[in-house]
Amino acid sequence: MRQMSILTDVTKCIGCEECVKACKETNKTGEDQPWRWQRKIDDLSATRWTTILPRPDRHYVRKQCRHCLEPACASVCPVGAMHKTPEGPVVYNSKICMGCRYCMMACPYGIPRYTWADAVPYVRKCIMCYDKISSGELEQPACTKACPKEATIYGEREELIRLAHGRIEENPDLYIPKVFGEHEVGGTSVLYLSDIDLGFLGWKEDLGDEPLPMKTWVVLNKVPGIFVGVGVTMFGLYWIIDRRMRLQEEALEKKSASTDAQHDPETGTDKVEAKK
Ligand code: SF4
Ligand code: SF4
Ligand code: SF4
Repeated sequence: MRQMSILTDVTKCIGCEECVKACKETNKTGEDQPWRWQRKIDDLSATRWTTILPRPDRHYVRKQCRHCLEPACASVCPVGAMHKTPEGPVVYNSKICMGCRYCMMACPYGIPRYTWADAVPYVRKCIMCYDKISSGELEQPACTKACPKEATIYGEREELIRLAHGRIEENPDLYIPKVFGEHEVGGTSVLYLSDIDLGFLGWKEDLGDEPLPMKTWVVLNKVPGIFVGVGVTMFGLYWIIDRRMRLQEEALEKKSASTDAQHDPETGTDKVEAKK
C-alpha cells in the first residue's frame, strides 16, 4: 500500500500559523489549554496538535507527530490504543486508552500530550487527519492544504523523498544535505528539509536508524511483569499528580481575583504580581 507522508521545508515557512489554525478548526481540538499545563506556551498541547516554533534569523519550524514507520509509542501501548495504519498515519483509539502514558515516555520526539483537564484524561496528538481522509471528507490534511507557501506538503512517501533530494541537489548551498526522517529510527512519515540544525526538534545525531520498538521490546520481553507493575504505579502516580495540579489550579484561581499572573516562558512557571 502507498505510504502517505508530509514534507515540511523549513526554508519556505513564513510562520503565518495557517496550518495550526486549520488543524484546530478541522479537528475541533478545542480552546488551547491554560498555559500552566505546558512547558512553553507555543508548544504542542492536547488542543494544539501542530505548532510553529520561531527560531533565530526569521526561521519558523513546524512541529507535529512524525508518524514513525515503526512507532515506539505503539510498541509500548499495553492495550493497543496507538497503532500504525497501512496508509502511514499513527492513530489512537481514545476509547481504549487507559492513560498510562507509556507512549509519552517512549516517543523519541516528545510528541503525545495528555488531556490533563479532562475528567477521564487520555493522550492526543496529530493523526494526519486519518479519519477525514479515509472517509473522503478531505483529500489531504487540513494543515498542508492551508499552507499558502507550500512549505508543508502531502504526498506519497517515496515521491516526497525524491522531491526533497531534488531540492537539495538544486540548492546545495542552501540545504543541510539530508532528508530528516528518511532513515532515523527506521524512517518516519513526516519528513523535513532544512537549512538549520533541527536537533531542538528531536532530530538528534545519536538517534540512530534502528527502529526503537526493537529496543523497547527487548527490555519488556526480559521483564514480563513490568507492564502490570509499572502500569499500576503510573496510574497511581497520575491520580496523585492530577490531584496536586487541580489543587494548584484552584489556589491560583483564588489568587487571580486580586492579582495579575504572568507566565515566564523560560522557566515555565507563573510569576504573580500584585495589582496596583
Ligand atoms: S513521533 Fe512519537 S507519537 Fe509520533 S508516531 Fe513516532 S513515536 Fe509515535
Ligand atoms: S495532519 Fe491533520 S491532525 Fe496532523 S497537524 Fe495536520 S491538520 Fe492536524
Ligand atoms: S501555513 Fe505554511 S507558511 Fe504558514 S506557518 Fe504553516 S507551514 Fe509555515
